[in-house]
Amino acid sequence: MTMSILGALKLSPSSLVPATAVAQPSGRISSSLHFHLANAGAAALVAASLLLADPALAFRGGGPYGQQVTRGQDLTGKDFSGQTLIKQDFKTSILRQTNFKGANLLGASFFDADLTGADLSDADLRNADFSLANVTKVNLTNANLEGALVTGNTSFKDFTDVPLRDDQRDYLCKIADGLCTDGGVRDGHHPFVWCNSAPERVRFFAWLLVRGRIQCRANLLCKGILDEHSCHCPICDNPLETPDHIMFGCEFAHRFWSMLGADADATHRVAESSTCPLPHSAPTGSATTLRLLCLWHLLKHRNGVVFNGLAPSLSLVRKNCRDDAVLWRARLPMEQRDDVDLWLTYLLPVRF
Ligand SMILES: [Zn+2]
Repeated sequence: MTMSILGALKLSPSSLVPATAVAQPSGRISSSLHFHLANAGAAALVAASLLLADPALAFRGGGPYGQQVTRGQDLTGKDFSGQTLIKQDFKTSILRQTNFKGANLLGASFFDADLTGADLSDADLRNADFSLANVTKVNLTNANLEGALVTGNTSFKDFTDVPLRDDQRDYLCKIADGLCTDGGVRDGHHPFVWCNSAPERVRFFAWLLVRGRIQCRANLLCKGILDEHSCHCPICDNPLETPDHIMFGCEFAHRFWSMLGADADATHRVAESSTCPLPHSAPTGSATTLRLLCLWHLLKHRNGVVFNGLAPSLSLVRKNCRDDAVLWRARLPMEQRDDVDLWLTYLLPVRF
């Protein structure tokens, strides 16, 4: 799972980080200037800047490192440990298992680079650009990432892939809204989002859900994609389709939870999804997984109505829940697998 739907993350300085680690503003300005240039595809402009600007400050084909070209190269397994590589340009390069241990990479660009398995331990990566980079299995032990840029498509995955200095793990987790699964997260939603047996895509849905960021018309209204006259609930015609409405407020959702045997609460909010009512007999250990099963299928059903023109159907959403419950059984810990038999009793076929 990538962070592709997080949007751009700017890892800017915060009070959590010691003053000595605060990024240098000049580096950030250069980095963003560079980014704009690259995005504009202004190759000629970049070339011109190379002639005019101090080479040590420009993003050259190579950069200060011995004038060697490091952009767009296959540098797999190369040893750059301990080198001074300030603002070095590694854009789009293949850097698998490359050794950057202890290197000074202040402001360097790894835009769209493949850093799989690279060693960035002890490296100074302040203001470095990891936009679109693949950072899977990178060793970031004791690296300084302050001010680094990570866009939505950067394959940072969760931070359990990379050993981070504790204060920076906390920092990164805070910025990323708690995507870390390594217990370092102080996010209150962490147990609900991650401590369950649901598939990864459902966990990610949970992560969006508790933040009210699932697909719905109210969110499209916020983004200016829909106008206020087009934001009604596609199922019950309520004037505004919000995440809370889809999951709990909608008449359809209310009937779904009631039929399940829960004390349906139309005022329940998605931010408190971890405590949404279940049947009293639902086993505690697997309760989060069951909640996610139901919430996930309520959204899938809603999407089926909106995008596939399906007629709203409690029978259908319950059947889909049953099917996934059976599939998810093997995902549950041994001692919880029998819980699925009980879940299925809440979801028995019903004739309407
Ligand atoms: Zn509705």
